Amino acid sequence: MCDNPQYQHHLLCPDCDLLVGLPPLIRGQKAMCPRCRHTLLNYWHDPKRSSVGFALSALVMQGLANLFPFVNIEVSNLKRQITLLQIPMLMISNHFSSLATMFLLCVQAIPALCMIIIILLYLNIPFPFRLKTFLAKLLFSLRGWGMAEIFLGGMLVSFIKLMAYAQIRIGNSFIPFCCFCLLQLRALQYIDPRGLWDIIMPCTVQVNQFHPGESGLGQGIRACSCCTLLLPADMNRCPRCRTHEGVRRMHSLQWTLALVLTSFILYIPANLLPIMITDGFSNILNSTIITGIMLLWADGSIPIAIMIFIASIIIPIVKMIALAWLCWKATTRKERKASDSERMHRLYEVVGFIGRWSMIDVFVISALSTLVRMGSLMRIIPGIGVVLFSLVVILTMMAAKTFDPRLLWDKI
Ligand SMILES: [Zn+2]
Ligand SMILES: [Zn+2]
Repeated sequence: MCDNPQYQHHLLCPDCDLLVGLPPLIRGQKAMCPRCRHTLLNYWHDPKRSSVGFALSALVMQGLANLFPFVNIEVSNLKRQITLLQIPMLMISNHFSSLATMFLLCVQAIPALCMIIIILLYLNIPFPFRLKTFLAKLLFSLRGWGMAEIFLGGMLVSFIKLMAYAQIRIGNSFIPFCCFCLLQLRALQYIDPRGLWDIIMPCTVQVNQFHPGESGLGQGIRACSCCTLLLPADMNRCPRCRTHEGVRRMHSLQWTLALVLTSFILYIPANLLPIMITDGFSNILNSTIITGIMLLWADGSIPIAIMIFIASIIIPIVKMIALAWLCWKATTRKERKASDSERMHRLYEVVGFIGRWSMIDVFVISALSTLVRMGSLMRIIPGIGVVLFSLVVILTMMAAKTFDPRLLWDKI
């Protein structure tokens, strides 16, 4: 562990740049930034053992989830068993390799890779230091991109949609997959970036002057965005994790606005082009996002229709408007009150949290296209709109990540 007591008991808030003196915490308590309410630190009992335990269990559950049938579906005496691995294969057979890649990455590969990295780093396996640094950086970059739990939500919605037409029974791998979703979330929750980086390499830099309650920018210090090490503001390269950055994210507003604009341009065809094609009983029905919601409403599935409407229509557009507004507010030169910054920061946090759940409609269509394949009788095929829509969600997630929330607090 680091032998610099100042470093151990102080944190620079990554969201508002306030230097916070950490009080002694007991098990289960968390430290929050007094200015922006961002959670700075969760004090878990033995985070190393808990993270490794949850990560190992998650990997075992993921292995089991891939071994057995995930769901059994029966329509007019036609029975089918579907495994998790068949889902991307069926997407490829529908000429949607992009969706299959996204499914494999977000639902299977990224959560599994994060679990493996957690185990390797916490157990301090003697790798070369550069490899450990690379793995830690990879873990902190990828941990927001796993979407196993959103896929599970999409599967459950598609079950409800199909229940009126088919008999659906969960397979032997369904429960292990649910356990995998929960366990990988718990493993990620237990990661303490400071503790993990202290295992990889104890800190070496000391910043002499600390004034808790003041911003880092005002006292000439910054925190490394990757390993949280406190550094002099003019030191652009972190000596521990080798991340190169300045006191604020480089070209943050330009990147955010460019990504928001691109996602807005894609959002228009994503809503106009078919997201799902139903081919059945010599009838081809093209559904866009909005006609799919109207069909759900007409079928009586009103709660699901409202949920898909919020996730697919409201959230992406609100997210784009909110990010563009925050960028505009961050560029204004006027001084502002702390309460205004707090409101804007709350909006930024909501945008960051809800954004990935827009992916639920993409997973519902992926699930339906896999489940509804009744020979020549009926089948559901994803439309090009679903690829465009998933790009909108991914780009808005990237826009939220490139935005530097500290810019909202700099004018106080
Ligand atoms: Zn803060
Ligand atoms: Zn660093």
